Amino acid sequence: MSTRPLVIGNWKMNLDFVEGLHLVQQLGVLLKSHPLEHVEAVVAPPFVDLRTVSSILDAERLAVALGAQHVNANENGAHTGEISTSMLSRLNVTWVIVGHSERRTHYHMTDEIVRATSQSVLRAGLRAVLCVGETLAVRDADQHEAWVESQLRSALEGLDASLHPLVTVAYEPLWAIGTGVNASSEQVKEMTDFIRRVLTSLVSSAPQVLYGGSVTPTNAATLVGESGVDGFLVGGASLKAESFYAILRACDDCYALKR
Ligand code: PEP
Repeated sequence: MSTRPLVIGNWKMNLDFVEGLHLVQQLGVLLKSHPLEHVEAVVAPPFVDLRTVSSILDAERLAVALGAQHVNANENGAHTGEISTSMLSRLNVTWVIVGHSERRTHYHMTDEIVRATSQSVLRAGLRAVLCVGETLAVRDADQHEAWVESQLRSALEGLDASLHPLVTVAYEPLWAIGTGVNASSEQVKEMTDFIRRVLTSLVSSAPQVLYGGSVTPTNAATLVGESGVDGFLVGGASLKAESFYAILRACDDCYALKR
């Protein structure tokens, strides 16, 4: 881990704005009583919670950044039900998750749409967390590296160099997301090393590479300590302040030990 660790909580379609407010308040109590020195924390609530969460982060002066789970690639116009990057920026959102496997699988987010969305996010000056990862069938066929490389190339090839520093990648194998079965430290290391190698041919910066898939307070310290990953994208375990804080703490401690 060469840079400060990054941990992003993806609340998915959970927690209304009142519940989100309570979670952030509880997280704030933990962060104030046991401050973290190194880790960069981000929460990505549902769109309708963003304003409330933004206000509480600001009022409590919490060192937690605000993320969105998705955005439309277009700037504005006739896209009923969609949200634009400028709307997110006005709400102090600085991070956007792009191409999460749930959007790719259930909402027809093709590689082309992922590319357009990444570009729109980056051109707006927001930081994109590009999600890549294979299904179990692809891994069983020993095609996981080719699969992930193709997702990376499709999203990032030819990207304007000025936008490279805004790119972060999350390796999220679909078989590990929400299943309770995390990838092993060896698998995470193998894939994050591979992703870093592919990225050297695509971007001039050295993007942080996160892992996501059933990360919990129980496995976080081992995963971050053994795999060399730069942090985590966390789903289920980000819905409780205590478990999200414990994962933040594991990354903070690991960075303090290793640097
Ligand atoms: C995710 O959805 O990005 C994720 C990693 O979920 P979980 O932590 O619940 O597996």
